[in-house]
Amino acid sequence: MMTILGRIVSLGLPSSPGRIMGDGAPVGREGRLVLHWIASRLAMIFPVQSDNEKLLQEQWSVHSHLVPLLYFTLLANSWGVAVAFFDHAPARLTIAIPVGFSIVSCVRVAMWWLRRNAQFTAEQIRKEQLRTTVLTVVLGCAVCAWSLALFPYGDAYQKAHVAFYLAITILACMLCLTHLRPAMLSVTIIGGTTFLGYFASSGILSLIIMATSFFPVIIATAVIGLIQNRDFVRMVDARERVSHLAHYDMLTGLPNRASFNDELERRLAAPGNPIGLLYIDLDGFKLVNDTRGHGIGDLLLVEVGKRLSAVCNARAMLVSRLGGDEFAVILPHGNVDEAKAHADRIVEAVSANYDFGHGNITIGASIGIALAPQHGDTAENLLARSDIALYAAKEAGKGNARIFTSSMETRIQERARLEEDFRKALQDRDDLFVFYQPIVSIETGEVTAREALVRWRHPLRGWISPAEFVPVAEQFGLADALGAFVLETACREAASWEDRARIAVNISATQLGKGTLHGYVLSALVASGLSPNRLELEITETALLDNERDIIGDLRRMRDLGVRIALDDFGTGYSSLAHLRAFPFDKIKIDGSFVKDAVSRPDCAAVVRAVTDLGKRLGVTTVAEGVETEEQLDCLRNEGCVEVQGYLFGRPVPNGKDALRIERIDRKRETCSPHCAVVSRRAVRDTALAL
Ligand code: C2E
Ligand code: MG
Ligand code: MG
Repeated sequence: MMTILGRIVSLGLPSSPGRIMGDGAPVGREGRLVLHWIASRLAMIFPVQSDNEKLLQEQWSVHSHLVPLLYFTLLANSWGVAVAFFDHAPARLTIAIPVGFSIVSCVRVAMWWLRRNAQFTAEQIRKEQLRTTVLTVVLGCAVCAWSLALFPYGDAYQKAHVAFYLAITILACMLCLTHLRPAMLSVTIIGGTTFLGYFASSGILSLIIMATSFFPVIIATAVIGLIQNRDFVRMVDARERVSHLAHYDMLTGLPNRASFNDELERRLAAPGNPIGLLYIDLDGFKLVNDTRGHGIGDLLLVEVGKRLSAVCNARAMLVSRLGGDEFAVILPHGNVDEAKAHADRIVEAVSANYDFGHGNITIGASIGIALAPQHGDTAENLLARSDIALYAAKEAGKGNARIFTSSMETRIQERARLEEDFRKALQDRDDLFVFYQPIVSIETGEVTAREALVRWRHPLRGWISPAEFVPVAEQFGLADALGAFVLETACREAASWEDRARIAVNISATQLGKGTLHGYVLSALVASGLSPNRLELEITETALLDNERDIIGDLRRMRDLGVRIALDDFGTGYSSLAHLRAFPFDKIKIDGSFVKDAVSRPDCAAVVRAVTDLGKRLGVTTVAEGVETEEQLDCLRNEGCVEVQGYLFGRPVPNGKDALRIERIDRKRETCSPHCAVVSRRAVRDTALAL
């Protein structure tokens, strides 16, 4: 019995009476404890305990729909009893009181009708619930008192009618009040005790049996009501959780891309509503994720989310995680200066150190800014343009914020045209060349290797720098085809070099980490017959920023073939030293920007010295790129550099056959347009050499 009671009152409540019951206390004390426990549980289930506004609104809405039914049942049943007693009981009982019930019921239904579409706050709902519960208690007592007052005036049938009236009205009211737990329980207690108490003590056997039969029915109805109530709460809760998952990012708790798009569209739909859109991409996040693990990566994203929310804390600002390491912020204005200042604050906040107990972590942020209405008035347009601006920010060296300009878009279109032309050049291969630039040992002066540098002679624009078209090839998925062309050509030509110098081939970021490079390298080596130890692959530091784990896997496979791996443009990426730890490179190429200023700037000289020292310690060859003057060479020699590369020792040049082919193409061009022949010929050759 106690267990059943315990179950009933603990519906939706956390603890059980087991602990109270199981301590072996004497029966009297145990009884008191149980009563105390039941009282405390009743005290807990009576009030509406939700702080959840949504739940309160849903409960109130379902309850409100049952209000007319409740009063209809009450009135119909009450007037039925009144008519049955019309000739037997005084008019105050058969007319005045039913009229009173009718007035109260009509007023309540009218109130319900007038407010049926109103949106209530949680506080208002709580007040309404309290009012309804109080009214339920008053009406419940009134109905019970009225029916018991009628009882003595009736014959056996009419008495049975009163009992029937009370029972069905109590049950109907309980069902209609299911979603207002305190009111339902009030009806259960008032109606139940009245029915049981009065009829059980009536001395009439049929009524006593009726009362005892009614007891389990009213308890069962109450339990069903409580279960329904609990299930409703769970259902609303689950629905809210699903809706939360659909609209918020699980990791950071920020609104996700879908709700961001909705909000952006909503704000843009309001005419003349200015908006600033900041599209944020984290610099160096992938490196942290790959080297420190996904756990730290997740912590980092959460912390970035917090920092963004702290910087963008104004009410009308919306911070959202679009996915991966991309975030976006909606600003409530379209002011250029303010948007830029805000973006700078974000860059500063995100770039500050992070410490999760495993040493400091540093990342950066690049931001593209687009403003409405000047840069677009649809969500799609604004996002696309902020993305273009983000691209420009990344190109400008990361850790930057850029506001969209139409010239950025023009550049994108030019890129698309360039991609089309480059695709054709790759197919025909007529206008693609590989030039070679020597890499020289400082000590002996001999050429230890030559770097293969690709050249493209555009049919209209002339020579185009690889710095311009290689990124286009990478962006449009042509890096593998270009890489295969350079690898094949360079290995084939290097195989016939008499000095047996090594050949260094540049590898694009997008060629790495897919497990496919190994095949290209192997086929180039097999086709050319070049010994693998004469091939050197140059990987730029920035290539290692993405997907480091897979890239290192690729490099190891290459190393297993006997191919050497060089780290190119050292010092230009993030966490250069972390890269040296991640893979044992054979060569470090110090970026030309440090070499250029090594003579005049002590900080650049210090970088060169630090890298050469490190190279010596790790047994790695150090090469200085971009050496143009004797002064630079002396400086590099003093700093302990092992090899050098630059115009001082030779510009990139084609092999003999290609040089002749280039000459022939130039001549053909001259005959086509004789008036610009001399200028064109010189210009083309100079450009080719300067590239
Ligand atoms: P990189 O690999 O760092 O190549 C060195 C760049 O410095 C080359 O520019 C070279 O011409 C230039 N250079 C060499 N000595 C000097 C000097 O003394 N002074 C100056 N100012 N520059 C010098 P280039 O050929 O324009 O190549 C630019 C970049 O394009 C390369 O930088 C490399 O990252 C990329 N690249 C070139 N060829 C290929 C290729 O076949 N595949 C891939 N993926 N990238 C390539
Ligand atoms: Mg290189
Ligand atoms: Mg380089």
